Amino acid sequence: MARSPVPEAVQTEVLTLSRRRCCICFGLNQDLTIVRGQIAHLDKDPNNNDLDNLAFLCMAHHDEHDSRTSQSKSFLVQEIKGYRQELYDYWTTPEKATRQDIVLTAIEDIGLAPHVWKIHFLALVPDGWKTVEQYSTGEIWGSMIAMTEELELTVDDWARYQSLFESVLGHISRKLESVILLWGSYLSDDYKHKLQMSLRKLTWAGDTYRTLRGHDPTSLLFLRTQLKEALVNLREICENADHEKSIIA
Ligand SMILES: [Zn+2]
Repeated sequence: MARSPVPEAVQTEVLTLSRRRCCICFGLNQDLTIVRGQIAHLDKDPNNNDLDNLAFLCMAHHDEHDSRTSQSKSFLVQEIKGYRQELYDYWTTPEKATRQDIVLTAIEDIGLAPHVWKIHFLALVPDGWKTVEQYSTGEIWGSMIAMTEELELTVDDWARYQSLFESVLGHISRKLESVILLWGSYLSDDYKHKLQMSLRKLTWAGDTYRTLRGHDPTSLLFLRTQLKEALVNLREICENADHEKSIIA
């Protein structure tokens, strides 16, 4: 039987509930590090996408859970579910979760999002990192902005940058939106306001891009402007996140 992927809405719920912490790391060591991980099917049936059957696990624990040849006692489903409950409660039960943990996580999330854009962007520019180094301003975002001013854009670039503006920018906008929605009441008014402004500007950059057709010099000029605008906004998001973190930490 074909494997049916976990629907995006369910994935979002698992990631949001766990805040990308591994249930087992938390259960065993109270470890709240944000980890690279995967959504595991606890009953090992890849088609059972019930929320109750899913848990976010770090790579090591996911491997350990999946491996059938393990010599040592493997994790029991009810055991993992217990750890998972403790982790979910940690974020949702106010007396357990500290305000600082919640806010730091939200800010961390926001601060990381622009880097995804950066990596995609540099992958689309011929010789990406090497080119950006030639425009070094001592700071990566500044260097990319300087590079954008001189990028020779062609009609093909309009289509090439489509994923950047549509999917990656869309991803960041959704992330900003969900942080404002979920954690808005925990964030400082100033920071929340900055996030709302960034969201508006990024949405605008995406909308403007969609009106371009890329067949005439004016559209190409606009494309350059949109790239620059996006970079300026994303740098701002990173800087605001760093600033906000420094106040809290
Ligand atoms: Zn783990």
